[in-house]
Amino acid sequence: MAEQLIEAKNLKKYFPVNKGLFGRKKSYVRAVDGVSFSIFKGETLGLVGESGCGKSTTGRIIMRLLAPTEGEIRFNGKDISRLPDHQLRELRKELQMVFQDPYASLNPRMTVGEIIAEPLVVHRTATGKERDKRVQELLELVGLSSYHANRYAHEFSGGQRQRIGIARALALHPKLIVADEPVSALDVSIQSQVLNLMQDLQKELGLAYLFISHDLSVVEHISDRVGVMYLGRIVEIAEKDDLYDKPLHPYTQALLSAVPVADPRIRKERIILEGDIPSPSNPPQGCSFHPRCKSCMDICKTTVPELKESEPGHFTACHLYG
Ligand code: SF4
Repeated sequence: MAEQLIEAKNLKKYFPVNKGLFGRKKSYVRAVDGVSFSIFKGETLGLVGESGCGKSTTGRIIMRLLAPTEGEIRFNGKDISRLPDHQLRELRKELQMVFQDPYASLNPRMTVGEIIAEPLVVHRTATGKERDKRVQELLELVGLSSYHANRYAHEFSGGQRQRIGIARALALHPKLIVADEPVSALDVSIQSQVLNLMQDLQKELGLAYLFISHDLSVVEHISDRVGVMYLGRIVEIAEKDDLYDKPLHPYTQALLSAVPVADPRIRKERIILEGDIPSPSNPPQGCSFHPRCKSCMDICKTTVPELKESEPGHFTACHLYG
């Protein structure tokens, strides 16, 4: 069994909002509301769900770009939930992030070489020729050439820019990369090139990924295990094949029924979800999915279902599974 790299326990992130006259009444947007999972060394955990379900906030908490309101994050067994700034700085070497928009995440005034070298400069890990050599290594690692170091980001295509973002993330030899919708802004033809690059790098460098996306096909392509989020909670988490072949939670079943299949002879019955996602500032009582669930029972309206092992290695938060 692979070693655990990240352990997230009951993570919560509530954002305060002021309501009422003079903003006196405080309420909270429960962006993440009790999320627990592990990531093992060298694996990819996919996190999937509709926009606003809390998956990006979860990624930012794991990166410690946001502090959790409650809960604990362990990295290599050490509690990193509430580290002081100087220790957070050290942690940043081990945890890196790849962002959705490769256009916005690269500074247009810096050369590609300067962008990739930036983490080395900030953390003072290499200078002069050693730094230039590392930049060249990184460019080659992501399928670019050393002469690209002197060019600017606008001279590259979207796929190449995402390769630059990945090279920057790899500069300090991280153990985990949180990739937040890393291919969503790219053409479909380019998406698979970037996903394949990420998989090759994972094999070569032993990286772990927390891969966040709303796209179930992309998550299926790259993940070892997949967690499905709804309104700030994980409602199902399992090995990829288990989850895609036999989804148990009614929400996962509905999401997967909407994924197009390549073979026109295969007919899938599409489950149409009625109603909108409720507001995370006023989530429904009990199971937060109950207003939209066709299998809703009385208990669902009053009692929050816990995430439990329904089948070996397959966890579901649903009263249908005992
Ligand atoms: Fe549906 Fe009840 Fe399961 Fe929630 S707990 S998904 S409402 S059956």
